Amino acid sequence: MFWPPPSLNLRLYLRFSFFITSILLEVLLSSFSHIKAILFDMDGTLRHNRPSYQETFFNIATRLGAPITDETHYQAKRWLHYYWAKSGELLSDQRVYADDSKAFWTNHARLLLSALGCTPDLAAAWAPKAFQMMNDEFKPQDWVPPDVHVTLEKLRAANYRLAVLSNRSRPFQEQMENLGLAPYFEFALHAGEAEAWKPEPQVFQRAVERLGCPPAETLYVGDNYFADVVGARRASLVPVLIDPEGLFPEADCAVIQGVGDLPELLRNGKNLSDQ
Ligand SMILES: [Mg+2]
Repeated sequence: MFWPPPSLNLRLYLRFSFFITSILLEVLLSSFSHIKAILFDMDGTLRHNRPSYQETFFNIATRLGAPITDETHYQAKRWLHYYWAKSGELLSDQRVYADDSKAFWTNHARLLLSALGCTPDLAAAWAPKAFQMMNDEFKPQDWVPPDVHVTLEKLRAANYRLAVLSNRSRPFQEQMENLGLAPYFEFALHAGEAEAWKPEPQVFQRAVERLGCPPAETLYVGDNYFADVVGARRASLVPVLIDPEGLFPEADCAVIQGVGDLPELLRNGKNLSDQ
């Protein structure tokens, strides 16, 4: 790219290349230096289900005889993120099954069996059984990875403003307190209160307005590319995607393995305590 034209001598060329490389490095390393606030997604980011919904469902689907491969496993996980990010299918299903939770989740089982590679007939035939088995077997516990607390301590010590923005329809302050998460955050906003759902920009705008921090100086950290990254961008926040399984190779933003990787990502832009 910087190969010198014949009229330039080598020393001048090297000096020029070093100058350009230094500028590029400076831009890269300072890309987070202006960040003053960090908003976090709740589910799948700060708090996880143990076992996860998909882990339990995929186990049930295998026992039913679904022809699961690594590829369909991967596609089904992507589909789950897509579906729950206020997709057209979700909105349609919420209208059709508005008053019938059992019918909604049976249909959801049918869609997920299809995403796992079942034929439409098999997915429809197995969906009621899969729904019933999920109802009987899926009893998850809340789990907060240990490095979440350590990381939030570091971020607070480094004077970042911290808050939570979730796509939940109801308040979850009590759960935040039970999990020991509440003291780190200025507030926890649920989308139901904003009457807008990720990836709609309005819900992100509501959160940054409450923080009183410009969107361009606010990170949004989440695990769903379709809801978190797309939505944060629409509202001019800086997205960071948590993607430990490489589900979103198309991600055009900073990607980390977990919340514990945030200090390293930010370190070049702002000093963080290593304690
Ligand atoms: Mg999430």
